[in-house]
Amino acid sequence: MSTSDRISVKLGKFRPSLTLALKQLVADRRSRSLPVFDFGLGETKGHLNPEIREAGERAFREEETMYADPGGLPELREAILDWLGLRGVCTSDQVVVTTGAKQALLNTFMAIGNPADVFLFDAAPWVSYQPLAVMAYAVPIMVLPREGDRLLVTPDDLKRNIRMRPHARMFLLNNPVNPTAQLYDAETIAELARVCARHGLYFVLDRLYWKLLFDGRTFPEPPLDDEVLPWLVQIDGMSKNFRRAGGLRIGWSVAPQDLTQAMVNLQSHYTSGPSVPSQRAALAALTSAYDQTLVTDLERKRDLVTTHARSIPGVDVWPTPASFYSFWDVQGVFGRRTPDGHTLADSDDVAAWLCETAGVVTASGTGFAQDGFLRLAFDIPDDEIVAGLAAARRAFESLG
Ligand code: PLP
Repeated sequence: MSTSDRISVKLGKFRPSLTLALKQLVADRRSRSLPVFDFGLGETKGHLNPEIREAGERAFREEETMYADPGGLPELREAILDWLGLRGVCTSDQVVVTTGAKQALLNTFMAIGNPADVFLFDAAPWVSYQPLAVMAYAVPIMVLPREGDRLLVTPDDLKRNIRMRPHARMFLLNNPVNPTAQLYDAETIAELARVCARHGLYFVLDRLYWKLLFDGRTFPEPPLDDEVLPWLVQIDGMSKNFRRAGGLRIGWSVAPQDLTQAMVNLQSHYTSGPSVPSQRAALAALTSAYDQTLVTDLERKRDLVTTHARSIPGVDVWPTPASFYSFWDVQGVFGRRTPDGHTLADSDDVAAWLCETAGVVTASGTGFAQDGFLRLAFDIPDDEIVAGLAAARRAFESLG
């Protein structure tokens, strides 16, 4: 029996998550003592805040290891309302605590999508949106901006796509955007949310990087009124806004009550809720003072990357108002020849060549359905940034 008969049609075409595959690539190069500058996986590093660590340790010591409410610990669901400024607007029965933001996304997709419904995504969708949509039997479609700047979707782009796609059921926006690091402003967010509400589409806002804003910016909150709230789903979690917290695997959604109940029912069947010690750690994180040094550190690294990357020939470095990604337009080197005679045809080629010749590991834009770009995650030590970008510059300068 061939593999194609043994694995479902749905999963048979899945490739591993690009970003997690990059983690493997880095480990492999390190084990062979090859040079590596790891701009691959988007993950905050440093040390876990002591209050988070101690809360997790305490939970184990006190044997908080039995099944809990499948929707999440009640006190954590309450704390999430405060964390998102939703106290008095939403209630804790609109919150589901999940095994990472990924599960909050899948729960949402499963709860709102019928087979063959269309899920609209922005123009550079994060690597797992499309596979997760397929898992929910939906058809993922990107909204391509007609003349938008930096791949940002305008309300007119969204209206045009909704008109063309009667089965559209939701529009998902990631703000700040992974991979482009762009930030939609409050006015655009409000208009996009209202376009969805007026057309009876869910507006799913993935705000996983919402604390990581630079140059004094504040997060553009969506409107919280009677028009938008019945259609608004917010996705968030621990993985990016806290140091070293991706492996805690805690995320959450805040959504209308009916949708939330459907998600809790679903979750009660397939994970019974996330790990309790991790939830205790998350509760400590959300109820302690926020560690703003993560943002100031990242802002400094952003400046370092921008200074060193701007002079690389053939690369257009986009501004980084938020997150920890530097997004490079590398179309300027397509068609150029490497010293060993290979012609760079697309961003997969550029990423592979940069890794092979300079040890610089990046995520190719094709993982985000945007050939022509590279994404560099810069939450790495300053000296690795400087040395890595110097190695990248030497490689780009060597092109014919
Ligand atoms: N959404 C975006 C935009 C992400 O970048 C990620 C992770 O990289 C996720 C969701 C998933 O987050 P988690 O690791 O909490 O499942």
